[in-house]
Amino acid sequence: MIRRIINKVFGRKPRTAASRAQILPLAAHGIRRDQLDDCALKVCETLAQAGYKGYLVGGAVRDLLLGRTPKDFDVATDATPEEVRRLFRRSRIIGRRFQIVHVMCGRETIEVTTFRSNGQQETGDEDEHAPADRPHAEPARVTDEHGRLLSDNVFGSMADDAARRDFTVNALYYDPAREEVHDYFGGVADCKKRVLRMIGDPEARFREDPVRMLRAARFAAKLDFHIDPDTRKPVAALAPLLANIPRARIFDEALKLLLSGHALRGVHQLRAEGLHHGMLPLLDTILDDPTGERFINAALKTTDTRIAEDRPASPAFLFGTLLWPQVLQRWRALEAAGERPQPALFVAMDEVLDAQRSRLAIPRRYDGMMKEIWALQPRFEQRGGQRPYRLLEHPRFRAAYDFLLLRAESGEVDAELGDWWTRFQEVGEDERAAMLQADSSPRPRRKRKRRKPGDASSGEARPA
Ligand code: ATP
Ligand code: MG
Repeated sequence: MIRRIINKVFGRKPRTAASRAQILPLAAHGIRRDQLDDCALKVCETLAQAGYKGYLVGGAVRDLLLGRTPKDFDVATDATPEEVRRLFRRSRIIGRRFQIVHVMCGRETIEVTTFRSNGQQETGDEDEHAPADRPHAEPARVTDEHGRLLSDNVFGSMADDAARRDFTVNALYYDPAREEVHDYFGGVADCKKRVLRMIGDPEARFREDPVRMLRAARFAAKLDFHIDPDTRKPVAALAPLLANIPRARIFDEALKLLLSGHALRGVHQLRAEGLHHGMLPLLDTILDDPTGERFINAALKTTDTRIAEDRPASPAFLFGTLLWPQVLQRWRALEAAGERPQPALFVAMDEVLDAQRSRLAIPRRYDGMMKEIWALQPRFEQRGGQRPYRLLEHPRFRAAYDFLLLRAESGEVDAELGDWWTRFQEVGEDERAAMLQADSSPRPRRKRKRRKPGDASSGEARPA
C-alpha cells in the first residue's frame, strides 16, 4: 500500500518498476521441485552451493504453472558467465555481445543467463545484488530512431532482469531449494487469468523490440491466452516496424510459431493482429481465396496434429504448403498462356521462390525438398502403366503424397485422386494391377526426343 502511494507520488508505474518480488510459497503456485528435470535442478543446486543465486526462469516456470511440460529449462543467475563456466566442467560460453552459458548435462543443454538490465537502472532495491564485475562499461542503453533497443548486454539485479523480460508470465523465477516463485509483475495471477500482459509501457517495449509483437501472437495461440487490451492496442500501428528486423530473425520466429503445435490458431492470430504482413506476407493472397484458405488450414492442422503426436514436422513441407497457392496460381497462368504443364510448373516454382526470398527469407536449404514435393504433384495424375510404381519408389513419395492429400482436402484436386493413391499403397499386387487405368492421361503430342541409353535419369514427370 505504502509502496503504491510512493509509486504514485514519484510517478512510477508498479508494472515497470517492481523492484521487490512477491515471494509465493508452494501452496500458492503448486510447482514441486521434483517436476523439474534433473539437469535443471542440478544446475540450480550447484550455483547455490557456490554461493550464487540460481533460479529456473522464463517459459519453463510459466509452463509448469499451467500444468504443461516445459520443452526446455532456462536458468538465471547472479554469477557472471565466466563464473558459471568455471563451475561446470561441461559448459561453454556462447555469444559475444550477449553471453550465455550452455551447461551440458547428459544429452541436455541448460541455458544459464546472467541477470541483465535493460539499461534503465533501478535504484533502492536493497535486497538485490548485481554481479560484481560489469565488464561492459559502454553506454547502457542504445536505441535506433524507432526506439529499437540495440544494446542489451549490461548485467543487473534480479529485479532489473525481470523488468527487461517481455510478458508478466515470462518473468517468474522459481527457486527449487525453497520451492518458491518470485513474481515481480503479477505473472502468477495473469497465468491464472490467462492474460498475456506486457511488462512496462507496451508501446515502448514493442518499439524496443518489434519481434515481441510476433511473440505475443505466438504465446496467445500456444497458451490459449488472450492479449491484454492495453498490450494489444499499439500493435496495429507498430506492425510496420517489423520491416526493420533482420529477416533471419523473422524467419526463426515464423518457424517457432508454425512448429509450436498451435500453428492454425497462431496464423489466424497473426492475421487478426495485422502482423502477417511482417512475418508471412504470403498469407494475404492465400487466405483471400477459399480454396487457398482451406488448403492452408488443412496444412496447419496436420502440422499441429503431428506435433501433438510427437511426430516430426518438416519445415520444408510446411513452407512448401504456404507457398503452394502462389505456385499453383502462377503455374495455371503460365499454362493458360500456352506453356506446357511441366516446364510451366518449374518456372512457377522458381518465380515464387525468388519473390519470397526478398520478404520472408526461407533459407535456401529448404528449396530442394519444396521443389521435389511440388514437382511430383503432376505425377499423381498419371495412373497407367509403370508410372505409379515408379512414383511409389521415389524417396519423396511420402511427403508428396501427404501434400496431395491436402490438395484433395481443400478441393483443389478430386478427393477420388487422393483415395486412389491411398488404396494403391494398401492393396496387394493383383489389385494394384487392376487399379491401373488405361493409359489415357493427357500428354503433349510432341514427338519424343530420342535419349541415349544411360541418359534416362529418374527425372521428374517427364512426358514418356
Ligand atoms: P518457449 O516455450 O516458446 O521457449 P519462452 O518463454 O521460454 O517460451 P524463449 O524465447 O525461450 O521463450 O525466451 C526465454 C525467456 O527470455 C522468455 O520467457 C522471456 O522472459 C525472455 N525473452 C525472450 N525473448 C525476449 C524478448 N524479445 N524480449 C524480452 N524478453 C524476452
Ligand atoms: Mg524457452
